[in-house]
Amino acid sequence: MIGDLMPETISVQCCIAGGGPAGMMLGLLLARAGVSVLVLEKHADFLRDFRGDTLHPSTLEIMYELGLLERFLRLPHQKVPKINARFGELEFTLADFSHLPTRCRYVAFMPQWDFLNFLVEVGSQYATFHVRMSAEVTNLIEDGSSVVGLCAETPSGPLEVRTTLVVGADGRHSIVRKRAGFSVEEFGAPMDVLWFRLSRKPGDPADPMGRFDTGRIFIMLNRGDYWQCGFVIAKGSLGELRAQGLPLFRESVAKLAPFVSDRVQELQDWEPIKLLTVQVDRLRQWYKPGLLCIGDAAHAMSPVGGVGINLAIQDAVATANLLWQPLRDGRVTEAELAKVHSRRVWPTNITQRVQLIVQNRLIRQVLDSKVQLQPPNALRLLARFHFLRRIPARMIGLGVRPEHVRTPVG
Ligand SMILES: Cc1cc2nc3c(=O)[nH]c(=O)nc-3n(C[C@H](O)[C@H](O)[C@H](O)COP(=O)(O)OP(=O)(O)OC[C@H]3O[C@@H](n4cnc5c(N)ncnc54)[C@H](O)[C@@H]3O)c2cc1C
Repeated sequence: MIGDLMPETISVQCCIAGGGPAGMMLGLLLARAGVSVLVLEKHADFLRDFRGDTLHPSTLEIMYELGLLERFLRLPHQKVPKINARFGELEFTLADFSHLPTRCRYVAFMPQWDFLNFLVEVGSQYATFHVRMSAEVTNLIEDGSSVVGLCAETPSGPLEVRTTLVVGADGRHSIVRKRAGFSVEEFGAPMDVLWFRLSRKPGDPADPMGRFDTGRIFIMLNRGDYWQCGFVIAKGSLGELRAQGLPLFRESVAKLAPFVSDRVQELQDWEPIKLLTVQVDRLRQWYKPGLLCIGDAAHAMSPVGGVGINLAIQDAVATANLLWQPLRDGRVTEAELAKVHSRRVWPTNITQRVQLIVQNRLIRQVLDSKVQLQPPNALRLLARFHFLRRIPARMIGLGVRPEHVRTPVG
């Protein structure tokens, strides 16, 4: 029947592809400011694999500015006021958040699905906020050189959305940026990361840890009753590691963190050990008429510093601040989109530069090392002069050019 093939058609002022941190935060802020907004998320729920559970002091500040902090912090989370590291034999605190000029002087660890569900719950209080789960964006609708909407597949059939602005917040493998034909600058990375869990026992340390040893980097994040572990490997070397066998892998983990040697047997096969292929890139231009990309869709971040979620949220706040009024007026010019790009490209650029320096100088050197590691001078200074820990704390906890909520309610 022809009727069955007719797509459902919806009109909204802003349609966001992707319900990750960037998309959900933007959806909430715009709806709160009276803009009719639809977020399309391809998954049926947010309960997916680990993809970063860090909420930085600057994100918590945004929650405060929205009047949500107290309610938000009632959700289960762990507070991390400092990050410790060991480089060869040198143990030191890499970042100490206790001096930041923010209400929360710690990184909160909370499962990303709790955070996203919270944003949806708050957004749902506004009549202009709409979310469609299991809605996979497949294409853009263009009129001449302007984007005027998008197409999605849903369980009930095809969906067509007509809108003043499409926002691509669909992550590092963004279909929106592909369909828009945006040109991408790739920066490369010397490493990939294997993520897995090990149980946590009473008496284990509380703070997160980073261990740098000959040819190895190991990160452990305290998640209450388990450790979220990140084992950094040279890019493309997973096949070799697997060929060497799981017992050797377990042995390496136990050597890096001897207090979990009684638990490495929990890794019975490779299945629960997930590979994050590290990708660092940035769109040369984040917009074209009727379309803007933000978050990982505009710039996939290196895991160095764990700042991807924070940047995605900062992009969302800046976008809402600059575009809520034009969206309410029903017209967003290219010049207004360019303002979002130029506001956010600078902090992104600086953050990625720092990440690339750490990746290409420090991480590459550690992964290539065959003999006992000697800490670089910068780390020795950090270990010696405590006030220097405030620099990485600021970079990680606040980031460059932190944004503040300027959108109105209603
Ligand atoms: C294993 C892992 C660990 C990480 N650890 C950290 C960390 O500790 N700290 C940190 O800050 N960052 C971390 N990151 C990075 C962080 O997850 C991202 O930087 C951040 O989530 C970016 O937010 P985003 O909203 O831009 O994109 P995403 O979080 O990727 O969200 C994009 C959303 O779009 C949806 N989507 C994709 N395609 C479509 C489509 N066609 N139609 C509809 N929806 C679509 C996806 O399902 C997803 O929900 C990690 C990433 C991974 C993979």
